[in-house]
Amino acid sequence: MTRIKTAVVTGANKGIGFEIARRLASEGYRVWLGARDQSRGEAAAARLKAEGFDAHWLELDVTDDSSVTAAAKALAGQTGTLDALVNNAGIADGFGISPLEEPIGITKNVYEVNVFGPIRVTQAFLPLLKASGAGRIVMMSSELGSIQSLLDPDNEFYAVNALGYNSSKSALNAATVSLAKAAEPFGVKVNAADPGYTATEMNGNSGYRTVEEAAEVAVKLATLGEDGPTAGYFNHNGVLPW
Ligand code: NAP
Repeated sequence: MTRIKTAVVTGANKGIGFEIARRLASEGYRVWLGARDQSRGEAAAARLKAEGFDAHWLELDVTDDSSVTAAAKALAGQTGTLDALVNNAGIADGFGISPLEEPIGITKNVYEVNVFGPIRVTQAFLPLLKASGAGRIVMMSSELGSIQSLLDPDNEFYAVNALGYNSSKSALNAATVSLAKAAEPFGVKVNAADPGYTATEMNGNSGYRTVEEAAEVAVKLATLGEDGPTAGYFNHNGVLPW
């Protein structure tokens, strides 16, 4: 008998995370939608359940040690293995503020969610990912984390210079490589995904890509086969420069 595959997506109550959860559920995964707010989390899980999917809310604030520890414990009570973890939760702040003047409080808050959050969650869920034998971890990065892209005057994002956000995604990319190297002996692959500029609440729906298009690369990396890459950085066109 084949066992049901399992996935956790953080920040899954809306936006790209919700769509990733829907896609994984449609591929037969039992999916836990990580959300810090009970009513938003339950409503999102209920939407997927109403579509016939095996979806559940998991209380999870990625900035809070005790919330993450409790979430990992709660999950371990429901499944012995985790096949995919998508570290999608993120915030954007400091856009339009000169890097020379961005208040350090903004920079710290952005790092708490976008860098320390994924590291904290990855470490907490690693025992279940190892137990899968083929755990897949996806870090939701951004092309704004690509130092090479931001140094290229021809790149469409060259002028987008948000100190905390951009550097948080570069730090997340570095953490991806570090975690991937350490996790490889356990059959766990860790990759960074750039969804592209996507219409969500994060940018007042100004992005030109749909959440369906944005979810594609993360779902692909969350469902990689044995021969798939690790320690990579990808968007819908393929490999991105670090
Ligand atoms: P979004 O619609 O604003 O959704 C962000 C999600 O993260 C929400 O579910 C939010 O929950 C959650 N979140 C924020 N802080 C959290 C915390 N402390 N603990 C748990 N969850 C938290 O944004 P999105 O556009 O879908 O972004 C998803 C990811 O893609 C982010 O990592 C973002 O940086 C990345 N990305 C987005 C774009 C884009 O153009 N949209 C481009 C590149 C990369 P609440 O509802 O409770 O706030």
